[in-house]
Parts: sequence; structure tokens; C-alpha cells
Amino acid sequence: MTERIDGHTILIGLMAYPIRHSMSPMMHNNAFAKLGLNYAYLAFDITNDKLSDAVKAIRTLDMRGSNVSMPNKQKIIPYLDKLDPAAKLCGAVNTIVNDDGILTGYTTDGTGFMKSLEDENLDIRGKKMTLSGAGGAGTAIAVQAALDGVAEISIFNAKDKFWDNAERNVDIINKKTNCKATLHTLEDREDFRSEIADSTIYCDSTGVGMKPLEDETLVIDPGWFRKDIIVYDTVYAPRTTKLMKVAQKAGVTHVFNGLGMVLEQGAEAFKLWTGKSMPVEYIRELLF
Ligand code: NAD
Repeated sequence: MTERIDGHTILIGLMAYPIRHSMSPMMHNNAFAKLGLNYAYLAFDITNDKLSDAVKAIRTLDMRGSNVSMPNKQKIIPYLDKLDPAAKLCGAVNTIVNDDGILTGYTTDGTGFMKSLEDENLDIRGKKMTLSGAGGAGTAIAVQAALDGVAEISIFNAKDKFWDNAERNVDIINKKTNCKATLHTLEDREDFRSEIADSTIYCDSTGVGMKPLEDETLVIDPGWFRKDIIVYDTVYAPRTTKLMKVAQKAGVTHVFNGLGMVLEQGAEAFKLWTGKSMPVEYIRELLF
């Protein structure tokens, strides 16, 4: 790394809190080194109260941009000049690009999800998806899938604090895209089973299956899955979640964790900043 840093090195940030555990600095800095690009990516502890100064710093230091994570993904929006259409529909930003002082906000989680399916030669456009969860990840996935041409999305959520957001997602998708979205409660198990049975892909974006819920899954019965359904869990630690084990028991061929999405959301941001493709397979081998 040291031999790469010189007077011309361009800075890219990651603004969030807590953030020191993030894999993103390793991912981007190794990709810059591999391609011989003169950029450096650093994480900064930024809470909502420091956001205004942090955005000023992007302009003052002529940074190329930044990733943004919680608790700043929504709060950053008023400080930006422009929003990409998906970020606008999601009401959230995870990537900022600085073009000569004009800051544009993007969200790459949804494009990362869609790209990770494309990497597996799977095309869900024109098909039906059942999606559990309507938080940050679920919103990005639903919005991008709808923008990319998924025909129908059945969104399931518990009647918790995210229910309103689930309602908002369904409303926005129906108004702003050609996709038909419907909202369902996770408490109605028969409805949940029958929507999954009718879908090309089931995606869980709830985090159930990750600590402290690593022994749990929303789908318990392997009989709910056809062998040809795609089962996608956004969780990537553990690598094989309880949901994935249920799908494997059902004989499902296409079973994925969230690693492909993590890598591809990073690769999408990398491309926005550098114009170059991240060496995704190299990074996958190196870090995951
Ligand atoms: P969030 O807090 O914004 O949303 C959580 C969602 O899960 C909500 O819809 C909530 O209603 C639901 N939920 C929470 N606990 C539940 C339970 N016990 N039963 C049913 N539903 C429950 O979280 P987020 O940022 O959207 O992250 C969700 C998951 O997605 C996490 O596991 C996170 O690691 C993963 N994620 C993965 C990627 C990736 O690139 N692979 C990116 C972002 C998030």
C-alpha cells in the first residue's frame, strides 16, 4: 500500500458509525492495488451530527467520493446535489460521486443484488419474486428489481416498525415502475407459503439467520421450495444460513448467501468512482 500512495493519490471515504469492522476498505484498496489505480479508501467514524462537515470535506479535499452506511444513508440526502433514480425511489444513498464539486448520490445494494444473479446466469426479469423484509436491504432489492423489469414482487414483513416502510415501498413501486408489488404480513403463514410456491425467486432480507438469530429461519419446511426456485439470503455470516440449509434439504439447485451482493455492490461503486471494473473474482478469493 505505502508504495502506491504519493502526492497524486485520490481519496475515497466511508462515512458511518460504527464502521471499523467493515470489509469495504480491504475490498477497494486491494482492488486499486491490483489494477494499479492511484486511489486510497479510508473509513471515517461519522454520526449524523458530523454529516454536514463530512460532506463539506468531500468538496474541500476534492475527494472522488464516499460510501455511506448507517446511520447516514437517509440523512445524507439533503446535502447532495443530485440523486440517481434508484436512490431517489429508495430514499437512501450508499455511494457518493464527486464530479468537480457536484455530488451525486447512488444506491448500489440493489444493483449489486441483480448483478450477483447475472453472475450466476440467472435472469429474473419478467418473473415473480417473493421478498421478506423491507428495511435498507429489502428496499434496495425491491426497487432495483422493479426498475430492472421483475414483473411481480410479493413483499412480506412482520407488523413491526418497518411495516410503514413496506407500505411505502409497495406504493412507490406500483406508482413509479411497471412492476406489480403487493404487501403481505409474515404472520399469515399460508399466504407466505403460497406466494413462495408461485415465485421464481425467494429472497430473505430480514437478517434472520445472522447473529443473534443464526439458528432461525422464516421458512422451516423444505416442502415449501420447488427444486427450481432460487433461494437467496442476504446474510453472509454465517456463509450457510439456516434458510439455505432448508433449501438445500429441499434439493434446490440455486441457493445463495449475500456474499455476491456485497461484492457486486462494492464493484458498482468502484466503477462509478474509477470507471473501471473491480477484479471481483480476485477480491472474492483474497477476502472471502
Ligand atoms: P434493517 O434493520 O434496515 O431491516 C430489517 C428488516 O428485517 C425489516 O424489514 C424488519 O421488519 C425485518 N426483521 C428484523 N427482524 C425480524 C424477525 N425476527 N422476523 C422477521 N422479520 C424481521 O436491516 P438491513 O440493513 O436491511 O439488513 C438486513 C439484512 O441484510 C442483514 O442481515 C444484513 O447483513 C443484510 N445485508 C446484506 C447486504 C449484502 O450486500 N449482502 C447489504 C445490506 C444488508
